[in-house]
Amino acid sequence: MGKEYSIETKCVQSGWEPKKGEPRVLPIIQSTTFKYETSDQMGKLFDLEEEGYFYTRLQNPTNDLVAKKIADLEGGVAAMLTSSGQAANYFAVFNICETGDHVICSSAVYGGTFNLLGITLKKMGIECTFVDPDASYEELCCAFRPNTKAVLAESISNPSLVVLDFDKFVKAAHEHGVPLIIDNTFATPINCRPFEFGADIVVHSTTKYMDGHAVCVGGAIVDSGNFDWEAHAEKFPGLTTPDESYHGLIYTKAFGKQAYITKAVVQLMRDLGSIPSPQNAFLLNLGLETLHLRMKQHCENAEKVARFLENHEKVAWVNYPGLKSSKYYDLAQKYMPNGTCGVIAFGLKGGRDVSVGFMDRLKLAAIVTHVADARTCALHPASHTHRQLSEEQLLEAGVQPDLIRLSVGIENADDIIDDLSQALELV
Ligand SMILES: *Cc1c(COP(=O)(O)O)cnc(C)c1O
Repeated sequence: MGKEYSIETKCVQSGWEPKKGEPRVLPIIQSTTFKYETSDQMGKLFDLEEEGYFYTRLQNPTNDLVAKKIADLEGGVAAMLTSSGQAANYFAVFNICETGDHVICSSAVYGGTFNLLGITLKKMGIECTFVDPDASYEELCCAFRPNTKAVLAESISNPSLVVLDFDKFVKAAHEHGVPLIIDNTFATPINCRPFEFGADIVVHSTTKYMDGHAVCVGGAIVDSGNFDWEAHAEKFPGLTTPDESYHGLIYTKAFGKQAYITKAVVQLMRDLGSIPSPQNAFLLNLGLETLHLRMKQHCENAEKVARFLENHEKVAWVNYPGLKSSKYYDLAQKYMPNGTCGVIAFGLKGGRDVSVGFMDRLKLAAIVTHVADARTCALHPASHTHRQLSEEQLLEAGVQPDLIRLSVGIENADDIIDDLSQALELV
């Protein structure tokens, strides 16, 4: 959109901008392939000499228009959709790392990201150092090596709800000539826009609030266009030296500010193929149209629920960055003053077994492996998403053994509180 609209308007209207006689609603282009009139026309597309659609594994109009909306919401220059949040995190790192490289990641991250970086990428020769997100600037700097290529962290961590000290992480990354990649899944661009604080790349599991209805697994990568790859050319040869698979094309020369995201699309997506179906992108777009309304309600409800839990005698501790008692309250006020997310972490007096017993007695809130959708749900990370971690790793990841992750939905807050209340009575 030409004019710089507010975020609410972007949620509803960015991306698809129909012209005369075209459908008002984003069309689903459910086609793997696209027609050309001469062989030469199509050849030019393969060489990236001309822009155009030819095969949906690389690009599809429905997917691209939804990516465009997400880029607009984050304030980036371009975005791509992936088939999952995991694929987004993988592509975001692998786009600038290869065997022999090293990355730094906050230890308070989603369990899947922890496995991806700590185990799977290690097998591919990319090493990761996990750092405590609350470590001092000096300690953070100690983790850097000459072969470090990126720093990763979550704006609000899943499930420990650590709010990132952006200034500290941005400064450390840039001081060492590498980009900061932020997983902004929990805060969403409604509550936090990492590029405004200096982050370079944003990733999302769109499966969560963006979709918001728990219907499609998906991911996105957004490029701020701000990182100067050529200023650190020796670190990023994949972007600054010829790509043999495109007759020696150099991404930074050919695509400027969009070098990073273009490489991720035309090289990684071409070769690794983790695209969402256009049908799923269409559903994601429907979710995005109400993201601003839902986030407001999630946050309002979560604040009420967090206050209820905090005042309950059977509750040992509550971590919700919107609570004044939270260690992260000040950081949340600084970086996400309009609200954080609908997820609350808490533990019950009596420890792990009591927490698990409480969850079994919930009626409205369901036990599901999900978070951040319209329906209230609960999960016990130590038994579920993080069960492969040792006690020590759990604590490092900020996951106490008794931690319950409660994802507060957009139902009536009093009904949610009543449900928690009756389950607490029974334990
Ligand atoms: C869920 C999640 C992921 C992984 O996303 P999928 O869509 O499940 O692959 C990554 N990061 C965060 C913060 C998440 O919550």
